[in-house]
Amino acid sequence: MNPPRTISVEPRPITPLADLVGEERIQELTTTLASVASRARRRTLWQINSTASGGGVAEMLHGLVGYLRDLDVDVRWLVIDGDDGFFDLTKRLHNRAHGAESGPALCEADAAHYEQVSRRNAEQVADLVRPGDLVVLHDPQTAGLAPTLTDLGAIVVWRCHIGSDDRTPVTESVWRFLRPHLSAAHAYVFTRERYRPSFVPDASTWIIPPSIDPFAVKNIDLDPATVDCVLTAAGLLDGSAPDPARTRFTRPDGTTGEITRRATVVAETLPAAGEPLILQVSRWDRLKDMAGVMTAFAEHVAPQQDGCLVLAGPAVDDVSDDPEGAQVYDECRTAWQKLPVALRQRIMLATLPMDDLDENAVMVNALQRHASVVVQKSLAEGFGLTVAEAMWKRRPVVASRLGGIADQIQTGCGLLVDPQDLPAFGKAVRQLLDDPVAADAMGEEAHRHVRRSFLADTQLLHWVRLFDVLLT
Ligand code: UDP
Repeated sequence: MNPPRTISVEPRPITPLADLVGEERIQELTTTLASVASRARRRTLWQINSTASGGGVAEMLHGLVGYLRDLDVDVRWLVIDGDDGFFDLTKRLHNRAHGAESGPALCEADAAHYEQVSRRNAEQVADLVRPGDLVVLHDPQTAGLAPTLTDLGAIVVWRCHIGSDDRTPVTESVWRFLRPHLSAAHAYVFTRERYRPSFVPDASTWIIPPSIDPFAVKNIDLDPATVDCVLTAAGLLDGSAPDPARTRFTRPDGTTGEITRRATVVAETLPAAGEPLILQVSRWDRLKDMAGVMTAFAEHVAPQQDGCLVLAGPAVDDVSDDPEGAQVYDECRTAWQKLPVALRQRIMLATLPMDDLDENAVMVNALQRHASVVVQKSLAEGFGLTVAEAMWKRRPVVASRLGGIADQIQTGCGLLVDPQDLPAFGKAVRQLLDDPVAADAMGEEAHRHVRRSFLADTQLLHWVRLFDVLLT
């Protein structure tokens, strides 16, 4: 097991956000921060999670840490390690927190192993953290660090990105498991009120919705010609040799990157540039239901409509805290192979290289911008950043009516469906393909809603208000 790794993030200038959200919002953020600054002096803000890439938490931390650095907050990001058994266990906790049975019931051996890995991580983190520092622990993987860090005098917040709208015996088993560790925390942050477990007092609970960074490589504007070139260079779209100037991009540190790697695809043919494309981008996680999207497309979209489906996710060995990725990807590939050739010609599975996270982000950005319809047919979802990302890009979205997705897709911003209802899913996709004018209007409304509620400054303001209370 490796010691915790420091992730370095370039400062991201906050002022350009004002052009998108207005001076007032940025002013409110900086004024609130200024009022906390004297109490925050000589304290470090630690963000601790279990992966630097692949998934919503890592995606968000790159942006938030970057902006906090620009705002002169002494912030550091650590990624803890664990062995295979630990990440298998935390994946079970993750699935269960979403209400899904996963592996055997949680037992004493699991608790002992969790305790052992957490203690080892906590001892190493404790060498870095000083009394009075603020520590934000993300998700079940890091909850076990809370007792050691509070004992040494740090102010500890547990930020939980997952949860279920319903309390069930399966979700309760997670809270019983984590409660001995979590009781030590000073505050708890959830994405939705309904995700708060019963043992967490109301008074220590904060609800903070996630956000996207409009200036991240994942979300910056790309013109249609650049989108085509990026996708062709990445081997995701049929086309002739792309203009090299359009396959270059600017990294957060100002240097230039270029698309040099290609996605690995499972396809009979690549999508053609003019073909309507339906897209889901997700980790290869059973709860994202990539296989279900494929079935719904095959049975309820393809027979009636032109167009192709692309299911894109990270290269399967590259998300360190997600041990099920390879298996779920293999299941999708097997399901694809069993389809008749006429359907295989219209469905592509793509794994996107993760060696260079900015390159990966440009590919996701281009895919989302190229899509006629973006879908997120998750069976459970804490928030679903992919939904906000697509909405920001003015894409019409069809997504599951559950969890944080329902907070994002409000009337006119997209279509919500029951993820088990495949005919309804297909109908919603067809409706958007049939009526591009209505789909465009929906995309515009979606963009406005993300601008109002889910950009980085809004989330930062929530956090600064929480720090204000914790440091009083
Ligand atoms: N993502 C990515 N590359 C991929 C697949 C996904 O960068 O190949 C990103 C995606 O764009 C989004 C995040 O991973 O920013 C997924 O976050 P979400 O909240 O949707 O789901 P999570 O993975 O956290 O459950």
